[in-house]
Formats: sequence, structure tokens, C-alpha cells
Amino acid sequence: MILDYIFPKVCLSCGKWGEYLCANCKSSAKYFDFSLCPMCDRPTKNGKTHDVCRLPLGLDGFLCFSQYAEPVSTVVHSIKYEGVFDAIREQEKTIEERWPAYAPAFDSIIAIPMTPRKKQSRGYNQAELLARKLAEFLRVPHDSSALIKIRDTVPQMRLSKAERVQNSALKQSFVCIYPSRIRGKTIALVDDVATTRSTLLFACHVLKKAGAQEVWGVVYAHAYG
Ligand SMILES: [Zn+2]
Ligand SMILES: [Zn+2]
Repeated sequence: MILDYIFPKVCLSCGKWGEYLCANCKSSAKYFDFSLCPMCDRPTKNGKTHDVCRLPLGLDGFLCFSQYAEPVSTVVHSIKYEGVFDAIREQEKTIEERWPAYAPAFDSIIAIPMTPRKKQSRGYNQAELLARKLAEFLRVPHDSSALIKIRDTVPQMRLSKAERVQNSALKQSFVCIYPSRIRGKTIALVDDVATTRSTLLFACHVLKKAGAQEVWGVVYAHAYG
């Protein structure tokens, strides 16, 4: 494959030739073997939001696959900031290997969007690359234009935990421009990383207001504990 020449595959964590995450480094990664309620962060059954935690415009479920710590954080960082977008295949592989049988049948896969300006400067939206892979894997349509981001915001990672939860600029930055494509659908809302999940919650809010029946957050790495 031509990308193997453009991106000679070396372990992003230790430099060993062959894979973006070699077997040795992968063995030190922590994967979730339980599911978390997206609203309260406590373990839950089958990825579903606890009944008591449910909000009309909140997430209905959450699927997260690895803990945001070394070496997974290096994979995320390399894709996001060092242009190694092909390493999205490592994220895809982890998600496919660990995709749970209890995940709902999604109608549509939507990535957390970037503003066109931000996407142009990075060259891609890594969440969208992951959403495309997930859509192929699940054989479900990927909708890249129904949800848009209209203004740039300070990256969540640079804010304190309290600031992230109350980030009103971020809250108002997502817009659903094709509600007819959202109405009545069960949607997987995809991102590469979630920390407080505020980004997912704000985007979910917009999709639910547009008439989505169910929205689940689906993330490769989650900062937990
Ligand atoms: Zn390695
Ligand atoms: Zn809960």
C-alpha cells in the first residue's frame, strides 16, 4: 500500500519497525473492560446511561475503548499534532477488536466537527477520519455535514476542569444544519479523545434538539480516574 512508503510504520511509542503500536507497547496500554455512564462517570451496564442520570438532551450511552495514558496518548498526539494521520488505523483496529455486542444498531455516524479554517490548517479532522473508518466497519452511513462547528474555541485540554464544563463558547459553537437527516435517528457521535465529555455533551444537545432519537458518544481514548 502506498501509504506504507509515505508513512513507514514504526511504533510511535518506542520506534520499533512494523506497527504504529508494537505488541510490547500495546501490552502496557490500558483498555476498558467495563462501560461508563456518560453523565456520572460511574460503571454502568451495556454502555447505557443510568436511568437516574438521563436528561432529555443528554447522551444515551457511551462507548470508550482505551484509557488516555501512555502509550495511547502518544498515538492520539501523533495523529493530532504531528501529521501522522495514517495512524488512525491503530485507533480503528482497537475499536474494531473491542466493539461490544451490546452497542445499538446505529443509523448514522457523525464526528465532532472542526471549523473549516481549523480543518484546513491541520489538513484533516482526526475525529472524522475515525468516523469514516467506523462507518465502513459498521456499514452505516457517515454524515460529515449535518453537524458543523461555526467558531473556533480554546482547546478543552488547555482549560481547567471547571472551565471545560462551563465552556459557553464551545457550547454555542455547534450547529445542526440538516435536522431532517438527524430526526428519529440513533447516532454514534465520534471523537478521538474525551476528557470531561463536555464537547460530546454540547454536540449531543444540538443533535437531540434537531430530533435525534438516541445519541451515543463513541471515543477511542478516555481520560478516566
Ligand atoms: Zn513500541
Ligand atoms: Zn450515571
